Amino acid sequence: MKLANEFRDVELAKRLIAHIHQTSHRDIKLMEFCGSHTVSILKNGIRQLLPPNIEMLAGPGCPVCVTSTADLDKVINLSRIPGVIITSFGDMIRVPGSRSTLQKEKAQGADVRIVYSVLDALKISRQNPEKKVIFVGIGFETTAPTVAAALIQTEKEKLHNFFVISLHKVCPPIMKTILDLGEIRINGIICPGHVSTIIGGYPYQFIPGNYGIACVISGFEPVDILQTVDMLVNQIENKTYSVEIAYRRVVKPEGNIQALRLMETVFELSDADWRGIGIVSGSGLKIRKRYRHFDAESNFDINPIENNEINGCICGNILRGVATPLDCRLFRTMCTPEQPVGPCMVSAEGSCAAYFQYGVSIE
Ligand code: SF4
Repeated sequence: MKLANEFRDVELAKRLIAHIHQTSHRDIKLMEFCGSHTVSILKNGIRQLLPPNIEMLAGPGCPVCVTSTADLDKVINLSRIPGVIITSFGDMIRVPGSRSTLQKEKAQGADVRIVYSVLDALKISRQNPEKKVIFVGIGFETTAPTVAAALIQTEKEKLHNFFVISLHKVCPPIMKTILDLGEIRINGIICPGHVSTIIGGYPYQFIPGNYGIACVISGFEPVDILQTVDMLVNQIENKTYSVEIAYRRVVKPEGNIQALRLMETVFELSDADWRGIGIVSGSGLKIRKRYRHFDAESNFDINPIENNEINGCICGNILRGVATPLDCRLFRTMCTPEQPVGPCMVSAEGSCAAYFQYGVSIE
């Protein structure tokens, strides 16, 4: 497929659906790791188009959702330091920490500003040399290279008032953790499209190699996803497990070498705290010693954190694929996009927000 309208071609979609329905496999569970895939699947009604023997589960691929309460408490504590400007993507400011949100802190006088990229944050630091500007770095391998490039640029400009709290995470270790937990039997994985543009396909090879699980890197349009499901079913039926790329117009097996180099220059792997899962070794990106002068955690006193989980919210279970938003007693009653209780309802990529908007009628 080369043209944009082909990704929504009804005839092509029908042929793929018909082929998928030919599977004789009794029970297939596919997990999409990326929140954007979850949104696309629900928005386009893809679950209803599949036969009942194919179940699709959402995984831990929404960066706002997987940020732990402890990490949110750190950011909230940083916002209380006089002379600090917190710069953050919009979703983050509504996610509850133990007792507060960045939005509440802002209402009480903290200087919290929404930015659309790390470059916006850099601009704020240039405009406010007397202040200390902290960028909240969240996201996976997709966003980390841009933050790395910004820190290299900051050093060239000799800006001394720009910092990053790095809450970045990487995907392959958490995929391994979900599989090792063994809470659900997964036959196939829809690998994240955006992340794979950076890391390529090789880092997923342990999934078919060690676990005998089908793997396909997918784009986000309806036909992309149907083609991916068809390829996964094919691998499962033929027991020929490998990492295939359905998103070839963007993803190369080796990834984006330049972006990987940038990331490697500025960050190193570290342990990271995932909501609902806990500390996962080597699943985070911390700023290397060489760039430590930009690291907010090394340069500010972050008071003790509370890490109180949100009462009644089951985001952690949803992120592990063992529950859906419909299992949460707060869904649609106490928890809505206007009054979100947990991060999966705040984030545009969160399962609860997607179920609220598109999903309930399909269950
Ligand atoms: Fe948490 Fe709200 Fe989702 Fe329930 S519906 S799991 S409270 S975000």
